[in-house]
Amino acid sequence: MTHDVLIIGGGLAGLCCGLELHKAGAGFLLLEACDSVGGRIRTDTVSGFQLDRGFQVFLTSYPEAKRTLDYEALQLRAFLPGALIRHGGRFHSIADPWRRPFAAARSVCSPIGSLADKLRVARLRSRVLQGTVEDRFREPETTTARALQDFGFSPSIIDRFFRPFLGGIFLDPQLQTSSRMFEFVFRMFSLGRACLPAGGMEAIPRQLAARLPPGSIRLAARATRVQAGSVTLESGEQLRARAVVVATDGKVATRLLGQATASGGQSVTCLYFSAPRPPIEQPILVLNGDREGPVNNLCVPTRVAASYGPGDASLVSTTVLGVTDDSDRLLSEVRRQMREWFGQEVMEWHHLRTYRIPYALPRLFPPALEPPRRPVRWQPGLYVCGDHRDNASIQGAMVSGRRAAEAVLDDL
Ligand SMILES: Cc1cc2nc3c(=O)[nH]c(=O)nc-3n(C[C@H](O)[C@H](O)[C@H](O)COP(=O)(O)OP(=O)(O)OC[C@H]3O[C@@H](n4cnc5c(N)ncnc54)[C@H](O)[C@@H]3O)c2cc1C
Repeated sequence: MTHDVLIIGGGLAGLCCGLELHKAGAGFLLLEACDSVGGRIRTDTVSGFQLDRGFQVFLTSYPEAKRTLDYEALQLRAFLPGALIRHGGRFHSIADPWRRPFAAARSVCSPIGSLADKLRVARLRSRVLQGTVEDRFREPETTTARALQDFGFSPSIIDRFFRPFLGGIFLDPQLQTSSRMFEFVFRMFSLGRACLPAGGMEAIPRQLAARLPPGSIRLAARATRVQAGSVTLESGEQLRARAVVVATDGKVATRLLGQATASGGQSVTCLYFSAPRPPIEQPILVLNGDREGPVNNLCVPTRVAASYGPGDASLVSTTVLGVTDDSDRLLSEVRRQMREWFGQEVMEWHHLRTYRIPYALPRLFPPALEPPRRPVRWQPGLYVCGDHRDNASIQGAMVSGRRAAEAVLDDL
């Protein structure tokens, strides 16, 4: 049997590609290697807790998500804008640097940033809100670290706020990631809220998958060889199609297409604990402003969405940038750091699970976003999508999937 289109990979990009094809009436079969769709957005249930496979948030301002997802059905629960910053043995609150930089000015104790920094945040905000999202990706490209310096930010606000905050988003503590990504993220935080769906992050791909026609997704179907017009599965089975879309992450796409599609990846480790009491009361992100200890950022997902826990205990999510082979040692270092931050009550925390993610995001060091969008047409009959085609985010993955579908539909 020859399909119209075969899509390899059921992450956001592959699912969005399938959705656009379906809307246009084109037949397709989506082949997913794992036991479920979602790719890098999966959620496990462990002892009554919902554990996202690596801490991540959904930003309501992503334009592609707005046009595609049903937010109400996702039952989004928002973080407080701003952050608690651990610095010098205390927590400092930064209210809402994205929307109300002057409120942030009042709330931030001087060790985090100067008044001049708050004025710069306000100036930067008005700049990133001009024009369209695409305009942010047309700005001259440098590293985020250089862009912050060039903008005049003080070393203290860079080290105590921007580095842990953006480093936690880009999984890049040196902030070598493209300044275009920084401007995009700043804009998204200024226009929307960071949220968790009540059903865990995996509710996002699940919602997309539910809109695809019955029988259009085949799980446990790993592609090992791809050509224009055919796909060979691990089992040896060969499938034929008029068009093939490779919607895997950049590393696998490089292997399947035999040519580099992305320049390496960023890694991260996420350790989850259950705690009898929440270490912080607010649904807010906690950042390490000291650059000491492995944990870059922390939150209590059950404070954001109660459905993340069984009701009688809190879920604590800690994020460590990078991966290590010595997970026992990492766990004891994380525990030690958490005791310094929250005291003896940490002794009562129970380690639930550690997620070690060697390839979490495609690396976007300049000139990775020049051009900001990479072509989705690989060769006649063969297409590629995924966050490595646009940018390392839910928005980037979703847009790339739609772009690939549009290209296929134009060519069929
Ligand atoms: C820990 C972490 C934190 C993140 N934080 C955020 C955040 O806060 N905000 C944000 O916007 N984004 C965040 N992201 C990024 C976002 O999750 C990704 O950009 C997006 O999910 C990528 O989707 P994708 O479809 O491009 O790729 P993937 O999700 O990687 O999907 C690829 C799919 O292809 C399948 N596949 C691979 N090989 C084969 C094969 N040979 N045959 C068949 N199928 C195959 C895989 O199983 C997978 O399902 C984060 C990612 C991680 C991992």
